Amino acid sequence: MYDISELKRCISDLYEKHRGNNQGDVASYIPELGKADPDLFGISLVTVDGQEFSVGDYQHEFTIQSIIKPIAFLLALEMHGRDKTLAHVGVEPSGDAFNSVELNPRTRLPYNPMVNAGDISVASLIKGASPEAGVSALLDRLGIAAGRDLRIDEHVRDSEATTGSRNRAIAYLLHNFGVIDDGIDHTLHQYFSQCSVLVNCRDLAMIAATIANIGENPATGREAFALTYVRDAMAAMFSCGMYDYSGEWAYRVGVPAKSGVAGGLMAVINRQLGIAVFSPRLDERGNSVRGIAVCTDLAEEFGLHAFEFMNPGSNFLRDAPPTEAAG
Ligand code: GLN
Repeated sequence: MYDISELKRCISDLYEKHRGNNQGDVASYIPELGKADPDLFGISLVTVDGQEFSVGDYQHEFTIQSIIKPIAFLLALEMHGRDKTLAHVGVEPSGDAFNSVELNPRTRLPYNPMVNAGDISVASLIKGASPEAGVSALLDRLGIAAGRDLRIDEHVRDSEATTGSRNRAIAYLLHNFGVIDDGIDHTLHQYFSQCSVLVNCRDLAMIAATIANIGENPATGREAFALTYVRDAMAAMFSCGMYDYSGEWAYRVGVPAKSGVAGGLMAVINRQLGIAVFSPRLDERGNSVRGIAVCTDLAEEFGLHAFEFMNPGSNFLRDAPPTEAAG
């Protein structure tokens, strides 16, 4: 486990280092998101043994947006298993923008669950018997992961629903190829609602730490996600979570992560900690500029990259009893 006081010092330093970075723009294609204060900036971390630390605007609420995608994928896997879920969405990076109106031409499925097409397909799988049931089932599980009750920002949901022609086009494309069923409006309601859950930076770090802790919230001990499928979500985040920056991210930072267009970014250090950054200014791919900068520096300083020789690996391996020397 990392030294928490060192981590706290580093987070505070990174906050000071990057707060003057004003590159990027707030997302405005969803009109409600365009109203965000671009200067907001928060960083949070939660360890799998329940220690936490936050700086800046970590209590400010914003909509989770695409960071819901690995969670929705987890719920689909729990409800339907791998075979059925993977009959509706692939796990291949697309290399294209998150909102591309496209399917993988080889499979005629969405490339992966981390882009809009994939998450709309997943939303269809988890939408439940009624619009209310599907959304409240998702809120229940996300609330267990965050450790508090969460709610939808209806202004953002309505704003996105009334301007979401691109996502509607994706849904009709999916329907045309038999990927989603006839309940297109129900699916889109689920999708727009999922994106509009209000969280703060600390919630995101707790959700990331819950994933790092194989599905169990480290503060409450409650199980949010079935441990069998947590690896599926981490793998999809690792290869596809940062859209068309995913390859660069895997190379430079090397941890499962997911970003959202409201400026949130969560990163999972497997069996160790959850990290979240909130800063609404985005780069041209839709990722938080400061979020990428903070995670890149933090991973470098602490050797967080999954394949870094300094990475101490999981507690499980380090705590294993020593094996008898051979010979
Ligand atoms: N709700 C957003 C959309 O559908 C989610 C995209 C994102 O966060 N990248 O466009």
